[in-house]
Amino acid sequence: MPDRVQIGESRKVKDAVLEARYTDGIKANKALKACCRNVDTSAVSLWKTHADAKTPDMMIIECDVCKRKQYRTAVGPGRIGG
Ligand SMILES: [Zn+2]
Repeated sequence: MPDRVQIGESRKVKDAVLEARYTDGIKANKALKACCRNVDTSAVSLWKTHADAKTPDMMIIECDVCKRKQYRTAVGPGRIGG
């Protein structure tokens, strides 16, 4: 597997102005623990999974309580702001 490179800083989901489509699936996923579904306290970070990627192509949302990570791939540019 190629090395992943984090782009920018991790921050809280509630501070990151994430589009709802990135978090709705997590909030609605009954297979996840309640702490993970409460994404407002989770940390979000953007990554490049390829050295030649021009923009971040993966998002990791990490639960602040249990540290479980949810992955979102094919993340477009400019989707995380604030
Ligand atoms: Zn959790």
